[in-house]
Amino acid sequence: MNLILFGAPGAGKGTQSSLLIERMGMTQISTGDLFRAAIKNKTDLGRKAQEFMDRGELVPDLIVIGMVEEVLNKGVKDFILDGFPRTVAQAEALDELLKKMNLSIGKAVFLEVPMSELMDRLTGRRVCRSCGAVYHVKSKPPKKDGICDLCGGEVYQRQDDKAEVIETRLKNYEEFTSPLKAFYKKAGKYVEVDGNRSTEDVFSDIRQIIA
Ligand code: AMP
Repeated sequence: MNLILFGAPGAGKGTQSSLLIERMGMTQISTGDLFRAAIKNKTDLGRKAQEFMDRGELVPDLIVIGMVEEVLNKGVKDFILDGFPRTVAQAEALDELLKKMNLSIGKAVFLEVPMSELMDRLTGRRVCRSCGAVYHVKSKPPKKDGICDLCGGEVYQRQDDKAEVIETRLKNYEEFTSPLKAFYKKAGKYVEVDGNRSTEDVFSDIRQIIA
């Protein structure tokens, strides 16, 4: 089944996607990761996306949709869309793309986490620059400070996880992304999962949904 995982920044989309890849053999399409890779590789796409990302703003719809179309054209299956769509215009464009490709989304899973918790998760979040593993200064620090347990890469704080940028991201989420709940309810695909629990509890719900 193809899945959309959505929710506020810090809701756990990336963490749950990693488990779905590892345990269910699914393929993750994370627009945030794709943009970060493009920035690292200094591509045109990366240059276009960076200014928006650094400010915590959404990258314009046309750029994001073009990038997702390219990935879908490679013929992925059992995919998780993580961080896309983030606006109703993107959701509509996705419907069109999938229709053209004879594909569909089974469920749009919304991870519900209260705002107060999101702030703590995001300000404390650290990620591995090489493999993308996610850590937290309090609840899941790497064994050696600044070094990834999994690959030995550098563990750093994303520019957009700094307090001043987080505020913009959460505001944009409320304004542009939360209307997707109504969009997917109307489409009969919406499922809500309480994301304010342990990673394993959340995963167990998601696994049942896709079973
Ligand atoms: P994420 O890793 O999902 O938190 O995304 C990091 C940043 O990438 C976001 O704050 C946006 O600037 C940009 N981004 C990722 N996905 C999208 C999207 N679907 N639409 C617009 N901007 C996006």
